[in-house]
Amino acid sequence: MKEQVLFLFNHLLFILVILFIYQFWLDRKQRTEKEKKVMLFVYTSICVLFSMTFTVPLTDEFIVDLRQIPLLIGVLYGGIQTAIPLAILTLGYRFMLGGVGIVGAISMCISIIIISLIFSKRYLTWNIRKKVIWSMFLALYASSLILAIFIILSSDKGFLENGLPHKDIIYIFSVFVLFHVAGTGVVTYAFEKINSIIKMKQRIVQTEKIELISHLAASISHEVRNPLTVSRGFMQLMLDDVSMEKKNEYVSISIKELDRAEQIISDYLTFAKPLEDRKETFDVQQECKRVIEVIRPLANMHAVEITSQLSSAYIKGNRQSFQQCLLNITKNGIEAIEDGGVLHIEIQLKKDSVTLLIIDSGKGMSDQQIKRLGEPYFTTKGAKGTGLGMMVSFSIIHSMNGFIQVKSEPGAGTRFEVTLPLINEKLE
Ligand code: ADP
Ligand code: MG
Repeated sequence: MKEQVLFLFNHLLFILVILFIYQFWLDRKQRTEKEKKVMLFVYTSICVLFSMTFTVPLTDEFIVDLRQIPLLIGVLYGGIQTAIPLAILTLGYRFMLGGVGIVGAISMCISIIIISLIFSKRYLTWNIRKKVIWSMFLALYASSLILAIFIILSSDKGFLENGLPHKDIIYIFSVFVLFHVAGTGVVTYAFEKINSIIKMKQRIVQTEKIELISHLAASISHEVRNPLTVSRGFMQLMLDDVSMEKKNEYVSISIKELDRAEQIISDYLTFAKPLEDRKETFDVQQECKRVIEVIRPLANMHAVEITSQLSSAYIKGNRQSFQQCLLNITKNGIEAIEDGGVLHIEIQLKKDSVTLLIIDSGKGMSDQQIKRLGEPYFTTKGAKGTGLGMMVSFSIIHSMNGFIQVKSEPGAGTRFEVTLPLINEKLE
């Protein structure tokens, strides 16, 4: 008996270890919803196959495994899209193994699909406590169902001579059901805890983006005010009795100025859109141009000239995140320049990578400061800084399989080198 409990305990540990590997995989990069679904299926099916292969005999007739735990997790978190392939896989494997457990497996699969239809959408909106309680309750239901089917089969079909002895029922019930209920609780709890850490990291990226947007807002509104004032001035002039020719000239200047204001706002708004969960192949050059347009008002405010030397280079990743990272770095560069200077942006192509140089003529950093770059809340800007920009930028570039190098000297300026793997556009 001790041995069997130990075996089941091993199963539970296996499910937990694979869960951790799955979560680390999730955390390593930005994953799309589709990738997450596929990996959830892979995770749960590995656990199901493991459980079904190394079954544990509780009594001579009642051979058990913990497959309901990964099944429930897959169904609750993946919904019907995970439930159906999991049910097919489980049934397929069960048929391959043969034996009397098939009826149990079929009813298990049917009830799992029903559970996913009823719960999966609602489940994801609940808090941790409710999730843990409900998953344990569902585990109680699922394991009791299996047990009930076994008891009915064993007495009716007579493959046990006198049905199941009471002593065995109590033993099986306590070990089998308790393991499922407690195990599901533990796995759900671990699943939720790690997920909440991953989500917190994503929230920091969003918060930093909102900070960035609100910091830029001041420079944008300043920049928009100019064309508005100019147009207003011309309209005022038109009120006076001026020749038709002059009027036409004033109108065309006003239109040009208003178009400029419109352009500034729309550039800004494309960046201010909420982050989408999407990967695509895009041109670094195009994104650099966009970022330069959005950052230009800030540069003007700081008397910074932006120079650039750009060429086309395709990379893959989340375009909005990449923009965010670029804005962080260029904004830092501009803020480091005190009384006028230059911010230079350059794209350098190598055989299978592209390096983006962002060089400013600002106040630079000491070695100590460079070391602390990317540390959360490290800022030298007092209340004006968040100290999250570089942390977010590093994590974005890291998630795109790239890296950032920084060279800086106090008083001489700073050079950021962002290197990313190149995509051959023709292959896409
Ligand atoms: P924040 O800009 O809110 O301070 P960041 O994470 O973007 O936070 O930057 C952290 C710190 O790194 C800045 O406060 C600044 O001291 C330093 N830093 C970053 N980029 C530069 C740069 N181009 N020149 C000088 N210092 C920089
Ligand atoms: Mg910053």
